[in-house]
Amino acid sequence: MEIVPVPAFSDNYIWLVHDETSGETAVVDPGDATPVLAEAERRGWTISQIWNTHWHRDHTGGNLAVKDATGARVSGPLAETIPGRDVDLAEGSEIRLGDHIGRVIEVPGHTLGHIALLFDEERVAFVGDTLFAMGCGRLFEGTPQQMYRSLQRLTELPEDARLFCAHEYTLSNARFAVHAHPADQATAERLAEVEQLRGENRITLPTTVAQERRTNPFVRAKDWEEFARLRIEKDSFRS
Ligand SMILES: [Zn+2]
Repeated sequence: MEIVPVPAFSDNYIWLVHDETSGETAVVDPGDATPVLAEAERRGWTISQIWNTHWHRDHTGGNLAVKDATGARVSGPLAETIPGRDVDLAEGSEIRLGDHIGRVIEVPGHTLGHIALLFDEERVAFVGDTLFAMGCGRLFEGTPQQMYRSLQRLTELPEDARLFCAHEYTLSNARFAVHAHPADQATAERLAEVEQLRGENRITLPTTVAQERRTNPFVRAKDWEEFARLRIEKDSFRS
């Protein structure tokens, strides 16, 4: 399974997922069709599936154009309005790319119907706007309890699982993480790494479960009340 980022808008990543054996390609959260179709064509890949994690326009805005251009089947959360959806996904649903079998978990908080797509054997998870490297999504629809639980579920995956997030927010998240844990060496070291990568305009993703357990203050929060305080503080934090 080959996974390639397609940068879109100012800080989104749309992920192209290709299975060499079957020749199948999926795209996760195509907010904009143009760069996705261009990258797929450049690689000689034909998109046969669209997977959405939640309804926000910067994740679904290109659904119909990609579907029109390729005939791709659209799978997205049952509980949300997803343009062009053919397949309803909910907790326990299965998705497939060639012989790769993924499963759906519900991770409410950023939106109420938000889902994540997990490929256990491949140690891969597409987490949308629920978890970011060293951070998490804003609570637009859900409660702090829901989001805290969602982050715990994602970081209960094996330590080496790679988490593919949908935005490049890592630098500002890392600055907040250092603010939240000023004496923490692993957090400070990661900030330095992220500053270097972003200084060279390089991607900081995917992250791993191990890294998030160590350096993500929202994941490290001991309960939802601590999580809620951090989330409110981050909303007004200026790095
Ligand atoms: Zn979103």
